[in-house]
Amino acid sequence: MTGAISGASEVAGAATGTGTGTGTGPGPGPGPGPGPGPDVSPPALPPDRNARIYVAGHRGMVGSAIVRRLRALGYAHLVTAPRAELDLTDQAAVRAFFAAQPIDAVVLAAAKVGGIHANHTYPADFIADNLAIQCNVIQAAHAAGVQRLLFLGSSCIYPRLASQPMREDALLTGPLEPTNEPYAVAKIAGIKLCESHNRQHGRDYRSVMPTNLYGPGDNFHPDNRHVIPALLRRFHEAARAGAAEVRVWGSGRPMREFLHVDDMAAASVHVLELPTDVYRAHTQPMLSHVNVGTGVDCSIRELAETIARVTGFSGRLVWNTTQPDGAPRKLLDVSRLAALGWRATTPLERGLDQTYRWFLQHEAALRA
Ligand code: GDP
Repeated sequence: MTGAISGASEVAGAATGTGTGTGTGPGPGPGPGPGPGPDVSPPALPPDRNARIYVAGHRGMVGSAIVRRLRALGYAHLVTAPRAELDLTDQAAVRAFFAAQPIDAVVLAAAKVGGIHANHTYPADFIADNLAIQCNVIQAAHAAGVQRLLFLGSSCIYPRLASQPMREDALLTGPLEPTNEPYAVAKIAGIKLCESHNRQHGRDYRSVMPTNLYGPGDNFHPDNRHVIPALLRRFHEAARAGAAEVRVWGSGRPMREFLHVDDMAAASVHVLELPTDVYRAHTQPMLSHVNVGTGVDCSIRELAETIARVTGFSGRLVWNTTQPDGAPRKLLDVSRLAALGWRATTPLERGLDQTYRWFLQHEAALRA
């Protein structure tokens, strides 16, 4: 799977939308005094609520959840730009965007994401677009003097046969899963670009690697969805049609870890807000990323049974073993994040229930 920020959708996001224009932060305009750029007010770093935070990918599943979280915490100067106004693969445009307004911190939640089919069909796009987005945003942030940045990756950075649960130091210890290797290589390059700025320029660029995410804004499209949106939709349709059975892929035995996107957003903001010395004390200059997960997994069978309850489907589950199981287990070790003071709080059934209610509210639009 590659959709750690799945739903972040094509490059800058598409799902839920959080407004238009280049954001709610202070816009370009005449600054009060001399100095570079249009505004000379001193930089403010999170947790200072005056921090001007640019959230790249604010219309995607994760980016929109991060915007909700930041707003709820009282951050009043969020900067966003819809894709129609800023193409993050366009280096000159990204540089101009950073030059046009003051930005104190960046959350890089924009990526080209997709399921196994999309990764298999468009591998060049997946590696090239993600490298371009990361390189453009991180380089422009550095050039503009942005001191703190949070880069969002994916648990697919780890070797295919990494021992479970996967610790941060499993990175670059073995071959990657071939189906999403180009995407994973781009994400690894993003981590290394952040670390290199820290080492060469004293920047404070951090990285978080989420497990499988789900929640409002997820991709329910039939061609491109992961197991939770796929099963929510299939069970919903079966319940509505009064079907006697639902077919589920594989054996039901694989184990997966699922994190609600609002938990991911809370974890991301928590890591963004950590004092520099605390982040550095729990990471290493060349092993700086932090896993984000629940630390708990469940079988696909348990997941399917829970989704049956949530959607009100009372028929039989039929295991379609002609479909692949994929990896037997994918679980992150989250002890580094726990030591940094954060744990997930959304139980799976409650998160699924909330996601199902979101799906029902948006069903007509998702079908279009
Ligand atoms: P993965 O974590 O990369 O394997 O991503 P997926 O979310 O696509 O699949 C997770 C597990 O769910 C695999 O064992 C699938 O076989 C299983 N699964 C069961 N039903 C479905 C389904 O309808 N769609 C998907 N994508 N996976 C399913």
